[in-house]
Amino acid sequence: MPLSAQRFEVPSNTGAHWFKGNTHTHTLNSDGDSPPDVVATWYRDHGYNFVVLSDHNVWTDPATLSALVDTSFILIPGEEVTSSFERRPVHVNGLNIPHVIEPRTDTTLVGTIQKNVDAIREIEGVPHINHPNFGWAFDHHTLADVRNDRLLEIYNGHPTVHNEGGGEAPGLEEIWDHLLTGGKRIYGIAVDDAHHFAGEFARDRANPGRGWIAVRADRLDALAIMERLEAGEFYASTGVTLEDIVIAPTRLEVHITQQANFRYTTQFIGTNGAVLATTGTNPAVYDLSVSSGYVRAKVTDSGGAHAWLQPVFIRP
Ligand SMILES: [Zn+2]
Ligand SMILES: [Zn+2]
Repeated sequence: MPLSAQRFEVPSNTGAHWFKGNTHTHTLNSDGDSPPDVVATWYRDHGYNFVVLSDHNVWTDPATLSALVDTSFILIPGEEVTSSFERRPVHVNGLNIPHVIEPRTDTTLVGTIQKNVDAIREIEGVPHINHPNFGWAFDHHTLADVRNDRLLEIYNGHPTVHNEGGGEAPGLEEIWDHLLTGGKRIYGIAVDDAHHFAGEFARDRANPGRGWIAVRADRLDALAIMERLEAGEFYASTGVTLEDIVIAPTRLEVHITQQANFRYTTQFIGTNGAVLATTGTNPAVYDLSVSSGYVRAKVTDSGGAHAWLQPVFIRP
């Protein structure tokens, strides 16, 4: 094996497809405005391949919605395990869990997050940490001490979650870069956190279709999607679609799907969130051979939508 192939983590993707999904949305089973079948149908009708109905401390049995499932659309069971510590919201999604989980609390903020993560892991579910800036609950200083979590919301479509941070508080992408720089292997997801499927679609309402992920897997089933998610084999998006991501031993290539006459800018970002390079080409290509730590790419289109690739980790 040449030295370069040892130095970079190069995944194998033979026979894989991209599956679009949303892992965070609500129904009338908690504080959403529409019944589960209406919510699931919205996603199926809008080209999604999977959705997780993640109601607050309520588990919805996908078997009750089996009529909606076909070869291109599945429901993955889940719950937004909804707790708090000293009035700070602690919301952790449990994906692919077999039954409801009671929310846990602890004597510290970190401990409260950890107990909910652990409760999800105990029944072989996959946890994701939700909207750190909702209620200005926590940031990287707290999340750095949480263990056994691989997924963090870096974009949430709900209007009151403060994705961009503000004042002294970091935005979600900045929190992510801090964690990555500190050596935590965590991947960024984009979600809807939709509550409003009826009535007006407006900026100040929690409507669907705002944030999603595309997972590269060889088949569409819950276990395959979970495995690839936790391996970072996906990108997060608010509107930009990718044809392909190629991680060659010394190159990261981002092949962007051209939509209408949109133009695209790709930033390659590394340790401490530093922008290492910016390009307007498609594919966007970055030479990894001079890098250390991690490199991730972020594509922005001329309308302001993004795609966030997962970091490539470079072995010391
Ligand atoms: Zn929440
Ligand atoms: Zn939610």
